[in-house]
Amino acid sequence: MKTLIMFSGGTDSTCLLYRMLTTTDDQIIVHRLRMMTEKRMTKISLAEDVVVPPILNWLRTNCRDFEYDESTLEMPDQIMVYPHFGYGYIGGLLMINGVADRMVTSRIKEDTRPQSCVKYAVARDIFYSLMEHGLVDGGRLRYGGKVDAEWEVPHDQIGKIHEYRMMPQELIDLVLTCRYPEVVDGKVVACQTCEFCVKVAAFMVAAKDETIDADLYVDALLKKKGGFPYHTVCVPTTFRSVK
Ligand SMILES: [Zn+2]
Repeated sequence: MKTLIMFSGGTDSTCLLYRMLTTTDDQIIVHRLRMMTEKRMTKISLAEDVVVPPILNWLRTNCRDFEYDESTLEMPDQIMVYPHFGYGYIGGLLMINGVADRMVTSRIKEDTRPQSCVKYAVARDIFYSLMEHGLVDGGRLRYGGKVDAEWEVPHDQIGKIHEYRMMPQELIDLVLTCRYPEVVDGKVVACQTCEFCVKVAAFMVAAKDETIDADLYVDALLKKKGGFPYHTVCVPTTFRSVK
């Protein structure tokens, strides 16, 4: 099977790519979406530019080879682009062009906030509209074409602590965790104060302690932060899990 994986260089997509490479025989096509506003790359995309090549290099050296490509989405300022919209659209375009048999992204159980569910549902609508109506055939979009492909989220029920437990430390050290990073002298400097920096530091400590129940830990952490409804029923999913 040919699998397209939308990849950012963050913990979730890196762990998913690592598992796809080590636990499946799929032909893996990795795609990264870079974001620009007003002719400038967003700070997070600039930071990804730094962290992604070493991650890909590590995976090729220690796991196996795969294809890699990227695209850039440019939007006016003040327009908030949720990456999953881009995954639905760009990934959908790749799929109707026959790049792969299925698309996978990393969405994990911690992110069940209602706003995330809505964005994800819209992104899925974009993707499945393309599958329903678009088929690129001989370089032309054939109306009425239909592509039988799924958008799967194999890590949907896996939390970040599980992800850190599944990845080698060498690989964990390469991923981008900060949501507000700066690139200084070609290196990524994490802010150390954003929600992601703080949460990830806690997750990493917990991941090293096997006596900690990952699910309970995440629950407690989220409740303490006045977090979001953890067990909210989200968009119905019928995803196959990674073996
Ligand atoms: Zn940060």
